[in-house]
Amino acid sequence: MKENKLIIASSNKGKISEFQEILPNFKCIPQSVFNISDVEETGKDFEENAVLKAKNAFMKTNIPSVGDDSGLIVPAINNEPGLYSARYAGLNATDSDNRKKLISKLKERKLESTYAYFFCCIVIAGVKDENDVIVCSGKVEGMIKTFERGEKGFGYDSMFYPEGYSDSFAELNSLEKNEISHRGVALKKLINKLNKT
Ligand code: IMP
Repeated sequence: MKENKLIIASSNKGKISEFQEILPNFKCIPQSVFNISDVEETGKDFEENAVLKAKNAFMKTNIPSVGDDSGLIVPAINNEPGLYSARYAGLNATDSDNRKKLISKLKERKLESTYAYFFCCIVIAGVKDENDVIVCSGKVEGMIKTFERGEKGFGYDSMFYPEGYSDSFAELNSLEKNEISHRGVALKKLINKLNKT
């Protein structure tokens, strides 16, 4: 791949720095450097949204571009927040607004702690030609709890306790989180596929 440059089709700073840490051999350039803003997430699932993001950035830069779509799935509350994780409490909701909404939903159902998982789909567009996409996904399972712990990370990290750990995602350092996270798992698969191209 030319010069190992990758455009990251996201404006989420937490995600951009996770991408750069997991892909140290690539220069990860946020799409904002090219004045590209987020596309509307009109896909019907995580993969369709990731494809929309990656193709939009590739079309505008002609540099291989990575799009991802991810979310938290809580089966006990009808798989919410799911596809709407980033805008659970409304279009301009902050991470803290979204966590508050989730906590109140769980408390309504008297669920202090329940099974949940993060899912991530990552797509890279433009490695070979403009129609080419590589798709990978990853998942991490654990418990979502109504009490928050830790200051690191973003999104729902302070409420998510990965299986086999007593710490929340927001208490793990980024290396520990990347090792097991949905995004880390998907990116490792992506690196393997890229190495084979
Ligand atoms: P996306 O930017 O459309 O993929 O939205 C993903 C949303 O899912 C984020 O805004 C977070 O609310 C949530 N999310 C995804 N990955 C993580 C994570 O690693 N930790 C915490 N929240 C996450």
